[in-house]
Amino acid sequence: MILITGAGPTGLVLALGLARRGIPFRIVDRRPGPGLASRAIAVHARTLELYDQFGLADEIVAGGIPIRHIRLREAGMAVAAIDLAGMGGDLSPFPYLLSYPQDDHERFLVAELRRLGVAVEWNVELVDLRDAAEAVTVTLHHGHREEIADFAYVAGCDGSHSRVREALGIGFPGGSYGQLFYVADVELDGARDSDMVMNLGARSFALRMPVRSQESSRLVGLVPAALAGQADLGFEPLRRHVEGLLGVKVARVNWFSTYHVHHRVAERFRQGRCFLLGDAAHVHSPAGGQGMNTGIGDAMNLSWKLAGVGCRGACPTVLDSYEPERMAFAQSLVATTDRVFQAVVSPGVAGTALRMLIVPILFPVLTSIGVLQRTLFETVSQVKLHYPHSPLSRGEAGGIAGGDRLPWLAQPDNYAPLRSLAWQLHVHGDVDPRLVATASRLGVALHCWRWSEAAESAGYAANAAYLVRPDGYVGLAGADAGNLAGYVAAFKLDPTRRLPV
Ligand SMILES: Cc1cc2nc3c(=O)[nH]c(=O)nc-3n(C[C@H](O)[C@H](O)[C@H](O)COP(=O)(O)OP(=O)(O)OC[C@H]3O[C@@H](n4cnc5c(N)ncnc54)[C@H](O)[C@@H]3O)c2cc1C
Repeated sequence: MILITGAGPTGLVLALGLARRGIPFRIVDRRPGPGLASRAIAVHARTLELYDQFGLADEIVAGGIPIRHIRLREAGMAVAAIDLAGMGGDLSPFPYLLSYPQDDHERFLVAELRRLGVAVEWNVELVDLRDAAEAVTVTLHHGHREEIADFAYVAGCDGSHSRVREALGIGFPGGSYGQLFYVADVELDGARDSDMVMNLGARSFALRMPVRSQESSRLVGLVPAALAGQADLGFEPLRRHVEGLLGVKVARVNWFSTYHVHHRVAERFRQGRCFLLGDAAHVHSPAGGQGMNTGIGDAMNLSWKLAGVGCRGACPTVLDSYEPERMAFAQSLVATTDRVFQAVVSPGVAGTALRMLIVPILFPVLTSIGVLQRTLFETVSQVKLHYPHSPLSRGEAGGIAGGDRLPWLAQPDNYAPLRSLAWQLHVHGDVDPRLVATASRLGVALHCWRWSEAAESAGYAANAAYLVRPDGYVGLAGADAGNLAGYVAAFKLDPTRRLPV
């Protein structure tokens, strides 16, 4: 039995991944039910691609608002517009940023779990754990009743103040930024749209995007230094400043809060039979809205590995790959968002240059250059995330190496087979009959498409075979009858296992 501690987005997605594979687990949360605040609203393309593997992306997209354009302002004046669909149209089936509030998101996941027969155990708090060689002994508080139970694995998805991380004695180095931020969900007077608007004036970062409906907007920004020390700061003292920067009139404030931003990465993401995921493992600046998306990525990464090693006899190396894969990404993300964040909010020369020179003068030019547009989309949407140094990544064929995300092709849709959540082979062109025989003997599903220009421009090599992992990343690029059998044997994979639900 596996224990998931925390039913935020990370824990819920891990639960979904295990439930879809028929793996026994429990999920507990000390809260009485799903969160009530909208918190994270930006859902990126890679997260939607992963949800698509579970057949859930369409419903999630229908519940949110796709944002296809970002309009940039400087000191309250429009300076540039970015077309996300233009940037990512051939990279992902979801070439936009989806506004989908975290409370709706969590309720959706809880309902999906219920549909699969899983109930989250609310009002249950993990207070202690001891990790021994054979099991993890956990103390859970159910109100006044205490339960002590053993679990094969514990997944700490219990947020930035993680009790799991603390009980394991894993450090959480990093720091906090001095600046105070505000966040507000408001209704606007006058014209509305479903664009994101971002203002980058000197010391006056502010952002608006629609949330829940086009009548309602999320505002995020820096509290001006003169107001930052004010006790119980509400929206009214900020009104003129915010309305001027974003060019809006706020008719009603539904939610307002202020917060400080932290950047930390845990020293380890795994210790023995315990794992850290989501905010328990890493927290970053709000630049790019990456926190929740990264937690969901952690959960998608761990769920098939826990299922394979914990219940289906796969080699422990598969589970060992969780930490290097996800830690490398978290560290680079924290460094990147930190650099962007510092440049945006810094009162120094670099920050001023970015806001007063790059944004108004260079950005309109830079964002009209195709290559830079793609890089921007690839980075923010996490479709560029790859695992080149993973122990599971092998080989190279064409422009695709082991550890790369399988490049998407629209026609025919090469992502459709990924919904089986199983290891599989993809070939564009002709397949070697010896590979067909080996794949059939090992029970690896083989998907073959006619060679196309689209496949060539996405980086595929004609007639090359790519062994794809259950999470849509390439395990072995340039597979043949020999190295396929070697790969499956080395990691003791069982590709014949089909989904129970
Ligand atoms: C204002 C705001 C805006 C944000 N915007 C974005 C955005 O646009 N995009 C984005 O990607 N991210 C955004 N984030 C970050 C995002 O909200 C977090 O990264 C995300 O909530 C992390 O999810 P999680 O499941 O890892 O942790 P959490 O959401 O913190 O969930 C942890 C859960 O664990 C439970 N728990 C804690 N301790 C215990 C225990 N001992 N026993 C049992 N249960 C326990 C808690 O009750 C909680 O339900 C934003 C954050 C804020 C505050």
